[in-house]
Amino acid sequence: MGRPFAHVAIDGPAGSGKTTVARALARRLHVLYLDTGAMYRAVAVAALRQGVPVDDEAAIVRLARAHPVRVEHDPHSDEGFRIFSGSEELGAALYGNEVSTVVSAVAAYAAVRGLMVERQRAIAAEGPVVMAGRDIGTVVLPGAPVKVFLTASLDVRVARRLAELAERGTVVEPGELRAQMAERDALDENRPVAPLRPAADALLIDSSDLGVDEVVGLIAAAVEAVRA
Ligand code: C5P
Repeated sequence: MGRPFAHVAIDGPAGSGKTTVARALARRLHVLYLDTGAMYRAVAVAALRQGVPVDDEAAIVRLARAHPVRVEHDPHSDEGFRIFSGSEELGAALYGNEVSTVVSAVAAYAAVRGLMVERQRAIAAEGPVVMAGRDIGTVVLPGAPVKVFLTASLDVRVARRLAELAERGTVVEPGELRAQMAERDALDENRPVAPLRPAADALLIDSSDLGVDEVVGLIAAAVEAVRA
């Protein structure tokens, strides 16, 4: 197990800024960064490509087993890691709008989560990591000494996601995106397995009025405090 003080769990809803913050924090701490949402997205991409209906749990679980999601760390890539489905690398396809609309259904299946959590823990066992997701502090790394639950108002989150999508060249209608994000939050918060919620000992940060550097500074201070 890597030095436990260097495991940082950052959870929160879509658009809370957790992936941006987690990536920047990992750079600052010189440790690995992993966005676990990309792993669930990889299963959703495979389902869409293979034409497997996302409401067919048994078929989705078979698919997830047949196309294992692999994470390769690559400090030279933008994200710091590459995601493979079977032998195929998935890049921008992970963030397509259609993927966002079906990913929560796929992520609700216990057996799919079991496969992902096993890989996420194996990565954490190799060393320090900043891991972003929905259940990192509650399920994946409950022993992480620094856990953060990052929120922001829905308006702010929609604006951030619009900007992020525009950067990737995707144009979506704001009202539609807002409805989609609210629906995804509800699915993630209300599913029976590993629902989105703060760990009891998580540091709660509302980033609605904070910049990335400010949030990263708050979490870095929490990391320093457990190191001291
Ligand atoms: O973070 P991102 O928005 O890319 O995550 C996509 C979806 O993957 C989430 O809406 C959620 O359904 C699922 N997810 C999850 N557990 C995680 C990370 C993501 O269920 N740890």
